[in-house]
Amino acid sequence: SHIPALSRAESLIRTVADYPKPGILFRDITPLLADAEALRVTTEALVAPFEGEFDVVAGIEARGFILAAAAAITAGVGMLPIRKAGKLPRPAASVDYDLEYGTATVEMHDDLPAGSRVLLIDDVLATGGTLEAGRVIVDRLGYRLAGISVLFEIDGLGGRDRIGDLHTVFRS
Ligand code: AMP
Repeated sequence: SHIPALSRAESLIRTVADYPKPGILFRDITPLLADAEALRVTTEALVAPFEGEFDVVAGIEARGFILAAAAAITAGVGMLPIRKAGKLPRPAASVDYDLEYGTATVEMHDDLPAGSRVLLIDDVLATGGTLEAGRVIVDRLGYRLAGISVLFEIDGLGGRDRIGDLHTVFRS
């Protein structure tokens, strides 16, 4: 089992107070990414519950890209980037969503057939706005959402209520 290795991996998530703004407890996954075993076991834990249920992994810019690409290789599938507005040359869909202050937009290409089963991955769940936008854009392109998997869930910010059914490896 991966349990001791997963506990060790969890201990490698660094909590940084007041970044990027006062009052935010930032969960910095870079020490975990830097550790070979921690990266491997957390990547495996992200995809394990969905084995055989997805055709591709989608990752949300920017830290979701890192985990989604690793997860795709682990699972033997490809990877779809969900990017911030203006970064993709031929976006097939565009979804606006609310941030704490203002709005943001995500975009995606349609390089796979409609009906492809997508496992959606991000690093941290906070309010759930980002994953909600990911879910909407996957749906808009006619893909089927196989599941949502997140490395670290922050309790008490409403993300769980908003997203509902999702798998999280670690939580606060
Ligand atoms: P939200 O849309 O509020 O769920 O925020 C999730 C997105 O913002 C994720 O893509 C995270 O990378 C990032 N994020 C939000 N809060 C934090 C935090 N406390 N620590 C690290 N990343 C965060």
